[in-house]
Amino acid sequence: PFEVLIVGGGPAGVAAGIYTARKGFTTGIAAERFGGQLQDTLGIENLPGTAYTEGPKLANELEKQVGENAIDLMNLAEARKLVPAESKGGLHKVELANGATLKARSLILATGARWRELGVPGEAEYRNKGVAYCPHCDGPLFKGKRVAVIGGGNSGVEAAIDLAKIVEHVTLIEFDSKLRADEVLQAKLASLGNVELIKNAKTTEITGTNGRMNGLVYEDRASGESHTVELAGVFVQIGLVPNTEWLKDSGIALSEYGEIEIDEEGATNLPGIFAAGDCTTVPYKQIVVAMGEGSKAGLSAFDYLIRTAPA
Ligand code: FAD
Repeated sequence: PFEVLIVGGGPAGVAAGIYTARKGFTTGIAAERFGGQLQDTLGIENLPGTAYTEGPKLANELEKQVGENAIDLMNLAEARKLVPAESKGGLHKVELANGATLKARSLILATGARWRELGVPGEAEYRNKGVAYCPHCDGPLFKGKRVAVIGGGNSGVEAAIDLAKIVEHVTLIEFDSKLRADEVLQAKLASLGNVELIKNAKTTEITGTNGRMNGLVYEDRASGESHTVELAGVFVQIGLVPNTEWLKDSGIALSEYGEIEIDEEGATNLPGIFAAGDCTTVPYKQIVVAMGEGSKAGLSAFDYLIRTAPA
């Protein structure tokens, strides 16, 4: 068995592994796809100390660093089920899709999240070519241009407020007949001069030309009529889904959104099981945050292991 088993090989999982391996603990990382969301990311310009990098390049650097530390990396290893130890200090079990079972005295869950997609024609084709999901990451790329935000929950309205400062004009598109965001955000939105709100609108297509998106088509749900909006970009803000489906019925406490509930040390409700990054309740889903959270969970696992006698 491992002393520390990390499930997930994104920025959070790798940071955790570097910390526990450097403490001399036998460390394994089981990852469905090493690198996680980095593999889908083009330019990264908000990682302090690295003015510009690209997701797959950063993932390669992380893999190199994993190799330089004594970490047993199991790539293409999808966890399907968690069986927590019966008593404190006992072994936790993680069952993989390939039938293998991994055992470890402490676990760090770092399975990340995925953006919910619209599922309309053009979305996949123009991803990173106008279609974006993260306003903190890609907002500045649309400086002085016209963009849309799809989704009128808190994240959509926050994105519209954020982008309104940077871009020329924001069109906020909401499927429902009203916004779901907090009142205070709605009031802020209404005070902005360069934001147009379109409600009761179903986005049906992202259009483009010469390999870049140039607009979207939505259907007015009241009249059934189709309309076109010309845009340089669109931010899809209809939800970030944590990859925690496999933890249902494991006894790990999840929030109403399916995020793993953690305390300020990265501990879950079960002894010896920690979690970090986008799959948790931590606010702000970003690379630098995930790395910090992973390091913290690694140190917490260390603290747990030196204080807990094996059962
Ligand atoms: P992830 O990166 O999601 O990694 C999760 C890991 O867990 C992966 O290895 C995955 O394969 C694995 N996994 C999932 N389920 C299982 C399972 N059941 N069993 C085993 N393994 C599993 N952030 C920034 O700071 N700057 C940016 O510029 C930026 N741009 C982005 C652009 C895009 C297109 C996207 C999608 C995200 C972007 N982000 C950016 C967000 C950033 O990528 C995430 O916040 C970060 O990757 C989270 O790290 P993580 O380790 O928590 O999760």
